[in-house]
Amino acid sequence: MASSSIEWTDKTWNPITGCTKISDGCKHCYAEVMAKRLQGMGKPKYINGFSVTLHNDALNEPLQWSNPCMIFVCSMSDLFHSDVPFDFIDKVFGVIRNTPQHNYQILTKRAERMAEYFASRIIPGNVWIGVTVENPKAKNRIDYIRNLKASVRFISCEPLLEDLGELDLSGINWIIVGGESGVQARPMKEEWVLNIKRQADKNNIPFFFKQWGTWSVDGIKGNKKINGKLLQGKIVQNMPARFYMQKR
Ligand code: SF4
Repeated sequence: MASSSIEWTDKTWNPITGCTKISDGCKHCYAEVMAKRLQGMGKPKYINGFSVTLHNDALNEPLQWSNPCMIFVCSMSDLFHSDVPFDFIDKVFGVIRNTPQHNYQILTKRAERMAEYFASRIIPGNVWIGVTVENPKAKNRIDYIRNLKASVRFISCEPLLEDLGELDLSGINWIIVGGESGVQARPMKEEWVLNIKRQADKNNIPFFFKQWGTWSVDGIKGNKKINGKLLQGKIVQNMPARFYMQKR
């Protein structure tokens, strides 16, 4: 388990590494770049680079973490990738059930397989389930989570690549938006962000603006840190109230 620089979580847990690209948001996958870098550095966990790899030895990491924390599951993969057998996913959820002191955030682009998995299983109370919605083509993923019996159902619009238009946000408890980072990043327009925020506000859904990324609010390519995370002059980083945990 590792401390995370992701602003909406505390730790990452990677019992699976590696993935394959499945949608437009994957084009400049951070996990792929990182996995190949770690492979080049000779890190044993990344001996297979970005190929899907199951790590039985990483399964028990959260059991050793006694302080309650927010854990992002599979930041270096997608838990519901077709190469991850359901019996391995059961092992992941076994650990989640055995560590009720933690909350777990699971974000996927494979909403259909996730729904297939949960069709015959109960979601533990300490699990947040989310799908990535980076453009209108991906909006159908929301339909797979809105009726799931999860404590928090969220959507992550990162990297936001287009205006999403109107959204059916029924059943959704949290929305994250962020721009893309890296030298090849695609720009994000303020009006796209504000369109999502308007709909979140209308539905009383906590809205979390993570960052502009490589392109500034003025449409200029530059430094992610300088571009920052102000939306109309303010930090807007709300989380579901009943589960809010102070970022440590
Ligand atoms: S699903 Fe996530 S981890 Fe997999 S390729 Fe796409 S962005 Fe990368």
